[in-house]
Amino acid sequence: MHRTLYDSEHESFRKAFRTFLDRRAVPFIEKWEEAGTPDREFIREAGESGFLGFELDPELGGLGIDDFRYNAIMTEEVVAANIAADLFSMQNDIILPYLRDLTTDEQRQRWHPPFAAGNLVVSLGMTEPEAGSDLAAIKTTARRDGDMLVLNGSKTFITSGATCDLAIVLTRTGERDGRGTTFVAVEAGTPGFERGRPMHKIGRKGQDTAELFFDDCRVPVSNIIGEPGRGFGAAVGNLPRERLSIAVSGVASARHALTLGLEHLTQRIAFGEPLADMQSIRMMLAHLHIETDILETYIDRCVLALNDGQLTAEEAAGVKAKATDLQWEVVDQVLQYFGGYGYMEETPIARIWRDARIQRIYGGANEVMLDLVGRRLVARR
Ligand SMILES: Cc1cc2nc3c(=O)[nH]c(=O)nc-3n(C[C@H](O)[C@H](O)[C@H](O)COP(=O)(O)OP(=O)(O)OC[C@H]3O[C@@H](n4cnc5c(N)ncnc54)[C@H](O)[C@@H]3O)c2cc1C
Repeated sequence: MHRTLYDSEHESFRKAFRTFLDRRAVPFIEKWEEAGTPDREFIREAGESGFLGFELDPELGGLGIDDFRYNAIMTEEVVAANIAADLFSMQNDIILPYLRDLTTDEQRQRWHPPFAAGNLVVSLGMTEPEAGSDLAAIKTTARRDGDMLVLNGSKTFITSGATCDLAIVLTRTGERDGRGTTFVAVEAGTPGFERGRPMHKIGRKGQDTAELFFDDCRVPVSNIIGEPGRGFGAAVGNLPRERLSIAVSGVASARHALTLGLEHLTQRIAFGEPLADMQSIRMMLAHLHIETDILETYIDRCVLALNDGQLTAEEAAGVKAKATDLQWEVVDQVLQYFGGYGYMEETPIARIWRDARIQRIYGGANEVMLDLVGRRLVARR
């Protein structure tokens, strides 16, 4: 279906970002996958080119562009380049609202310019070894000691955790009821703060994911992000945007896989004809194509709703679950259509497949998403 989400300015931006990725990312993906992280020069160039923190105030290094369609375009292009560079969605879609909306003037002066310049990679540490879906169970503490906070505990599975310059960490500062949590920013190099090595993942290998450790780590209270004691509420407020970002990437990945699948099926001959000439295959392709088209149209609506401040928590949760379930269905089926070639690393669908699996787990496991939607439905009765 013809999309009406983007205008010509968005499409020019898409072209510029695609050119940047083709030149600075695509040739290096194997190297980054080996290192477990993208290189810093790439991140700095992305900042210089205006691809990081563009929503921030121009006086502090941003471009003052507050339009999630640009974020969506970047996600689509990262997917089309098949590089799983979570850096952009992490920094622009997930971290940015914390830095923009919850910070003091002093913090903005400190962090916005280097963030937009690609000199400050920020991670968001919420998950702990014993608290993932149930975030209210976090145990990392931040105890007040005069003008300082003393952090103890650990985080796990943190995107950019091994390479971040600043970690925004959800800590326990009160009782376990959701109101006793506070976000604290911890700079790399602070005594008592250790970043783990990139974890060995089955996918998204070019992006580091790591543990963070805090051992009597002292940070000034001026590093508190947002209202003390209200960290959980702030996280919940930002989750719809994070989940929509995952949904955009899910449907883009499904679309990309379908394109590759169709190309293969029309060329691969078996039993004397192209695989695409088999009715059962055409019917499956049609089913996946229709589902993708319908979902893309709905996601485009969600992007506009987010721009208007109208996207609800349940809409975002629902679309995250639906898009990533569909992504998995499509990507797995397309790999099947590639046969043995699909299982080989050099075939693009192989990377798409292994990079796709986590999408149904992070940002809130899909079961938790469905439960959230279901609970709201029941509560409204
Ligand atoms: C590559 C990667 C990147 C990540 N990046 C970050 C990051 O940057 N920051 C961060 O804080 N976290 C990050 N995470 C963590 C991620 O958000 C968690 O893994 C996710 O929330 C699930 O938590 P868990 O792993 O503890 O699983 P658990 O909470 O133990 O859940 C395990 C499974 O149980 C089921 N389940 C759980 N609860 C329910 C329920 N209520 N109803 C039904 N079934 C349920 C689901 O199937 C779920 O997958 C990342 C994880 C990975 C792997």
